[in-house]
Amino acid sequence: MELVLTNLLLIALGGCLGSFASVLIYRLPLENSEINILQPRSFCPLCKNQLTIMQLIPFVGYLYAKGTCRTCNAKISPTYFIHEVLITAFIILIFYKMEFAALSSWLIVLIVICLYIQSIIDIQTLHLFEPLSIILVMTGLFLNISTEFFTIPLDALLGLIFGYGILFCINHLHKMVRSIDGIGSGDFLLLGGIGSVFGASALGPILLIGSSITLCLYLFNKNKDKELPLGFGLGLAGIVYCLMFIYI
Ligand SMILES: [Zn+2]
Repeated sequence: MELVLTNLLLIALGGCLGSFASVLIYRLPLENSEINILQPRSFCPLCKNQLTIMQLIPFVGYLYAKGTCRTCNAKISPTYFIHEVLITAFIILIFYKMEFAALSSWLIVLIVICLYIQSIIDIQTLHLFEPLSIILVMTGLFLNISTEFFTIPLDALLGLIFGYGILFCINHLHKMVRSIDGIGSGDFLLLGGIGSVFGASALGPILLIGSSITLCLYLFNKNKDKELPLGFGLGLAGIVYCLMFIYI
């Protein structure tokens, strides 16, 4: 009985965090608009009508409305539902191995959600939201300095420097040869954040997994001239590394 209640609690928590992540993914890239993360209340992107309380409930809202707006019948993107499902899966995987009452568990939830949001914003807009990368840097340094959870503090600090520096140098070389940027500056800070969380020693495997994911995206994409979202691969690689670290 206790296990069922715990799982229900984790599903509810994951649904709420997934729903909040959807709001951030949709609203953070909207610059110079009247929409911010707090205002206005969630609305249908097409007819702009506010969603009902029922439609705001994670999982239930999307299924209850059968993926459509109740006012104008427009199809609502299934990505909102997918974010809720994936974030819930991450929450269950994290708390299956970690203490609910430990601060480090919640910091890891924060890290995974930041990485996820960055990945999705990057694949949708080819931009990264730098304040989220700064949160990663601060959380990573705090977690490793206070508990040495992923690595020792020196390795975390080197991870920040090398993570930022590697991509900065690669981009600088690219710029010298081709006179244009090859990598967005948002990617430098994201990899710096990832380095400060997992340490300099983890940068090699994360870069390898991340660039492989981005390369797969390139191979499956019909439009080969489109810019590649490196941050998408790096963010997902960070999540994979984090879950592997907790489980192995
Ligand atoms: Zn509508």
